[in-house]
Amino acid sequence: MSGAAPVPASRRGWCPGIARPMATGDGLLVRIHPRHGCLTTAQLGGLADLAERYGNGPTDVTSRGNLQLRGVAEADHGALSDALAGLGFIDDLPATGPQRIVFLDPLAGLDGLRDLRPLADAIEAALRPLRAKLPGKFCIALGHEGTAPAVAADLEVAVDADGNAVVRLRDVWPPEADAPYSPPTCGEGLGVGVTTKEGGCLPGWTPPLPNPPPQGGREQAAGLPVRIAALVSEFLANNPGKRSPRQRNDVPANYLGLLPAGEQPILAVAPAFGRLAAADMRRLAGWAGRHGAGELRLTPSRAVLIPHLDRGAADGLMREARAAGFIVDADDPRVLLVACPGRPACRSAFAPAQADALRLAGVAGLFGAMHVSGCAKGCARQAPAPLTLVGEAGGYGVVLDGTARDAPLAVRSVAEIETLLQAVVATGPSRGEAIAALARALRPELGKEMPR
Ligand code: SF4
Repeated sequence: MSGAAPVPASRRGWCPGIARPMATGDGLLVRIHPRHGCLTTAQLGGLADLAERYGNGPTDVTSRGNLQLRGVAEADHGALSDALAGLGFIDDLPATGPQRIVFLDPLAGLDGLRDLRPLADAIEAALRPLRAKLPGKFCIALGHEGTAPAVAADLEVAVDADGNAVVRLRDVWPPEADAPYSPPTCGEGLGVGVTTKEGGCLPGWTPPLPNPPPQGGREQAAGLPVRIAALVSEFLANNPGKRSPRQRNDVPANYLGLLPAGEQPILAVAPAFGRLAAADMRRLAGWAGRHGAGELRLTPSRAVLIPHLDRGAADGLMREARAAGFIVDADDPRVLLVACPGRPACRSAFAPAQADALRLAGVAGLFGAMHVSGCAKGCARQAPAPLTLVGEAGGYGVVLDGTARDAPLAVRSVAEIETLLQAVVATGPSRGEAIAALARALRPELGKEMPR
């Protein structure tokens, strides 16, 4: 099976897939969009084999619960696509548009609340005819009110404990097909409409339409919220489900450790930087097969969940996971690190981003999230971070409260940055004081302007 021509990495606002891989400096990047973010043990084990055979070894978990292989030779793309199809991973939309529209709460059907998986399927099916006209990264986040998945989305649907639903839009609607993609997290400054079990539309609310009137796909997208609301209403009316006595509030946002789920807890582990070595994939598949129900799920925090765990095996597996190098504790300093593969995995990289991020982990925690990027493309994180290091000739550009694309305050070697951070942290400052002190150290002429 052979797909469309690879798309260059410089093109923004689209999403690579199996049939439509992205050409990068180290070969093709092939992204897999598992249905509901779920995998079987056979799929994960099979992917480990394919990553070693056709990719550069590891497989990355993305912030939308997808998996991607890097370093695939163009000559191998057809064979890899066939092998992925054999595992049940098939892109059915090779030309344009999103491969998967709905990002579903990773705990759907596991948390005692109404199971939203059928609703996810209904939305996917209803929007299938429109997909080719939607932006490649178009995303609907679906979950329960208060616990909806923390994923950047264009539209969020959250079902509440009474069986109503809230539909939230991003602030620019409809999304531009070719615009650089940096949506806000839903819930921040978005228009809100409410649909009830009895209603079929959004009472008293009309989606904002652009002026002049939209054409083609944008026109379709403009009407989407109302269509989604109608689908949700129909689903809720036909699937009364359980009324939940409470909102789920006992699962940490970063999904780590043993998560409560009745008699069968969920093991939640994260590989550093979302990067799974083939051996780790086989290890996880083995655990899910021996101690779970043969199922694994991917989260927006790049963790892997093993649900339906044998209670008696849970504590032992936690210890095993920790010993194997997985992140299982919320206070692990690696939780705050985001880094792209960098050198040597990516030929566009100026620096070994992940190795340098680990080197700085002990002194970067005070700043909150730290993003280390091998180059200014900033693949691993589009949103601003308190501290961003951007690989370039001669070292790292240091950006405070910005993204990898922003102009750096200064360029320093990783050793110089480490020394600077150690000096700042040694004074025991607050986060704000630390950022101001680092800015002054990098650009003394800014000293008078920076808060102290
Ligand atoms: S951000 Fe990292 S992974 Fe992306 S192109 Fe640059 S070096 Fe490569």
